[in-house]
Amino acid sequence: MIPYGRQHIEQEEIDAVSEVLQSDFITQGPKVPLFEAKVIKAVGGKFALAVNSATSALHIACLALGFGRDKLLWTSPNSFVASSNVGLLCGGNVDFVDIDPGTLNMSVTQLRKKLEQAEKASALPDIVMPVHFGGEPCDMREIHNLARQYGFAIIEDASHAIGAHYRDTRIGDCRYSDITVFSFHPVKIITTAEGGMAMTNDAGLAEKMAMLRTHGVTRDTDLFVGDADGPWSFQQLELGLNYRMTDIQAALGAIQISRLEAFIERRQVLAKQYDELLKNLPVISQIRHADNRSSLHLYVVRIDPDATDVSRKQAFAGMRSGGVGVNVHYIPIHTHPYYQKLGFGAGDFPQAENYYAQALTLPLYPDLSDEDQLKVVATLKQVLDG
Ligand SMILES: *Cc1c(COP(=O)(O)O)cnc(C)c1O
Repeated sequence: MIPYGRQHIEQEEIDAVSEVLQSDFITQGPKVPLFEAKVIKAVGGKFALAVNSATSALHIACLALGFGRDKLLWTSPNSFVASSNVGLLCGGNVDFVDIDPGTLNMSVTQLRKKLEQAEKASALPDIVMPVHFGGEPCDMREIHNLARQYGFAIIEDASHAIGAHYRDTRIGDCRYSDITVFSFHPVKIITTAEGGMAMTNDAGLAEKMAMLRTHGVTRDTDLFVGDADGPWSFQQLELGLNYRMTDIQAALGAIQISRLEAFIERRQVLAKQYDELLKNLPVISQIRHADNRSSLHLYVVRIDPDATDVSRKQAFAGMRSGGVGVNVHYIPIHTHPYYQKLGFGAGDFPQAENYYAQALTLPLYPDLSDEDQLKVVATLKQVLDG
């Protein structure tokens, strides 16, 4: 079976991990700050906080921004459940903004409309979390302008988007946001097995997140309340968690980040080939804006119901039985049973639901061969011809 995504690991990664296992520190040694420095160099941004998953990074990002009870977070329904779950885990409320049917990202038009209504109802969001779906950046300049007008903070869920460029900025430089979060799960662009990172340009937020990832404690005597008891002292200043990344993971990440450009270049080549190869098939690809560089975490298509009688369900089954490990991104978050219990329902965000009904994710990863890609397209053609 050709998978839809897969990590690329070389001997260099294996050696780096082995080296840590034989060193004095396997959890909090020198590799975590090394990895953080390398990510800053690769994507910009002033501060980087490595943690054990993107979910953890999103969680401490919300907490650092003061999110909690009686606060409101808006995100995209076309995302992984973690995007909104973190708001609920903080004890706050969440809502969604429907997507643009072309880019499949949060629609700025819908966002503006919802903000106008929310202002009248005195129910403006505290945080808006755009998700760069598949690696295609959201329209951050517009969202940032709205943030200034309406006074909300921005967390970019860039779990798909390390290595992406938005206009003349790099995703991660936080030019238009307070915090940007990356995921290093193996299907994502680079991997640390499990892992994530929060980027920010704000020293105060960085300091808070640094404490929150390790129980809310600090050993920095400059931050102490009163005097230190002694050289053994640490103080708990926030209510935090254990979300630390290990040196084993960071050593893996420090090698992976050096491959970022090569990974994205190969994904670009494959995506352009898909664009060409799929031209005469009854599918519609995600729109990628010419001013941006998508990191191309995913290559998603819609099965066009006006051009074929084959349903997405049939296409999915046909591809799988043909040896192609397609997937579906995403079941709209608000349609999950947990969210239905909160009062959300089918029909709330029609563009996300409409896209989901037609969505199919084709295999895309740096080691996908041209030959296998041709097999994917040939299988899809056969399946859609009925
Ligand atoms: C993968 C993903 C997450 C969660 O990442 P983890 O590192 O697995 O916690 C969050 N949001 C989006 C959009 C994702 O794709």
